[in-house]
Formats: sequence, C-alpha cells, structure tokens
Amino acid sequence: MEQQLREIEKDALSAIDRAQDSKTLQELKIKFLGRKGRLTSILKSLGSLPKEQRPLAGKLSNQIKTRIEKAIQKRLEALKDLVPGPELIKGFDPTLPGRRLPPGHLHPITQVLNEVCLVFEKMGFSVAQGPEIELDFYNFEALNIPPDHPARDMQDTFYIDDKVLLRTHTSPIQIRTMEKMSPPVRIIAPGKVYRCDSDVTHTPMFHQVEGLMVDRNVSFSHLKGILTHFAQEVFDKDTSVRFRPSFFPFTEPSAEIDIQCVMCRGKGCRVCSQTGWLEVLGAGLVHPAVFRHVDIDPEEYSGFAFGLGIERIAMLRYGINDIRLFYDNDLRFLNQF
Ligand SMILES: [Zn+2]
Repeated sequence: MEQQLREIEKDALSAIDRAQDSKTLQELKIKFLGRKGRLTSILKSLGSLPKEQRPLAGKLSNQIKTRIEKAIQKRLEALKDLVPGPELIKGFDPTLPGRRLPPGHLHPITQVLNEVCLVFEKMGFSVAQGPEIELDFYNFEALNIPPDHPARDMQDTFYIDDKVLLRTHTSPIQIRTMEKMSPPVRIIAPGKVYRCDSDVTHTPMFHQVEGLMVDRNVSFSHLKGILTHFAQEVFDKDTSVRFRPSFFPFTEPSAEIDIQCVMCRGKGCRVCSQTGWLEVLGAGLVHPAVFRHVDIDPEEYSGFAFGLGIERIAMLRYGINDIRLFYDNDLRFLNQF
C-alpha cells in the first residue's frame, strides 16, 4: 500500500512539473484527486486493510493529497508569469484591427489659410514670410504712415518699445520683399498679426494674407480680375463682387471689396446689416511713396496690394458669429471642421 502511494505521488508531481497550461493541470487534478482518481481509489480501499495499518495509510494518503494540491497550485502560479497560453487569451481575436487613436486635424483657421494661399499660388503668387515682432519703420513709416499720421490711431498697436512692435498687418512683408528683389514681384504673405482689440468680431491676434504684384503696366483691372477670381474660388462661382472707393495710406487709389452676402444671397439679412453685401478685402494700387522707400521707380513700375482677414473669411464661410470660438479650444466646436 505504501509503495503504491509513493508511486502515485511520484507520477503526479512529475506530471504537474511538466504541465504547460492550466487546462492540463485541471486534467491532472481529476486524474489523481477526482472521484475516480488514482489516489481516491486507494483511499476507498483503506477499509480492506488490517485494522492496525489503517491510521498510518490514511495519514500518508492525506499528506500526499495535500502535496499534490499544493504542487498544482504552485505550478499554476508559475504559469501565470509565462507567456499567456491560448486559454488565457480566450475571447481575444488577434486578427481584429487594433484600437484606433483618433487622428488630429488642422485647425479651421489653418484650413482656410491654406485654401486661400492655394488660390493665389495657382495664379503664380509665391509665399513670403516676415517677422511678427517688427520695426516701426516696416510696419508704418515705409508704408507711408509717418509718426504723426492719423492712420496710426486707427490701429491699436502693441508696442514693445518706441521702435519695436507686434506687426498690426502683414503689409511690412511688402517692404521687406521689395527691398530684396526687383520687379516683377508676385507674392502673398500669410501670417499672424496683433491689435489691441477684443469683441465678437475682433481678437488680439488674428491672421491676414497680404498680396503684392509689381511689374510694368500693372493696372487696377488686373487687381479686379484677380480678386474677383479669388472671391469666386473661395465662396461661390457666381458670387458678385463690388469695389468701393476707400482710403489706405499705402495705396492710391484704394478700394474696399465686398462680396454678395453669402447668407442671404444679396436680399439683406442680419449678417450683412440688410445691405446684401459683405466687406472682405482692402486693396489698391501701390502708393508711389511706398515705391520710393524701396528704390523702385514709380514712373517705370506700378503694382497693386491687397489684404484680407482669414478669420473673417472663415466666419462667413461657416456662418460663425463669434470670432472667439476659434481660440477657445473647445473640441465640440473644432471637431466640426
Ligand atoms: Zn445678408
């Protein structure tokens, strides 16, 4: 009897040691300790032993049973630290696609900015850049806005010191470009500009695109053609455009350009203050005084310049009535674009 018990213990322990998963261990448990298991059948036959042998055999059987149970438990723990076997990843299908991380997307202002630039790039304009911290000379003086000029009151400027400021428009890039290259010039200058202003239609930082074309015989009709094409590309193919006389120190003559209201199609609504028109651009022919600042002969060359606000275009395109929504970083708003 003792011999038999020792053999069962030896078999069980070596089988448990070799088991590679919990399923095998479960089977071994049944094989040795189950109702019809090898150890169980020995225990059942204890009754047939001589009376004096029974306590010892019973004690040994119980010790072996405990040792086998402990060995199974220990092996189970050890297997947990190994690579999970098929039974541990049950319910996991490795052929399913992975969990997707939501991709980011461009800010609506960046999207409109890129689109506006593309319209002009297709017409042969190239992109020029300039500093956001600008000298008074480039932001005002070279653009025919001397220190005592009332136009300086029109713009609420962030001054860093007497001579340095945050640019209030992208027009200084006109000057910087014409200093470096001689005509023909055909550039657009997109970028951030700063003015001390904040309400539903103004933010202290906003985006402008400035355009400049300089060559021999550039006329107002070139300006009209290019800006009309631009309005029809960005808004609608049959958008009407009108030019109204205006004033800017750096252009002469100057015009403000309106498009037919995109909300009411010219009938008159709250957005266009019942006029049927929306102002989207400022433009004009480059003032001779500006050319003289960069040593271009105004008798030989002429040119036009224009400027537009990207936020304004985006608000009209998407029917947004508060400019500050663009900069609140509210994903519920941004994810709509
Ligand atoms: Zn309208």
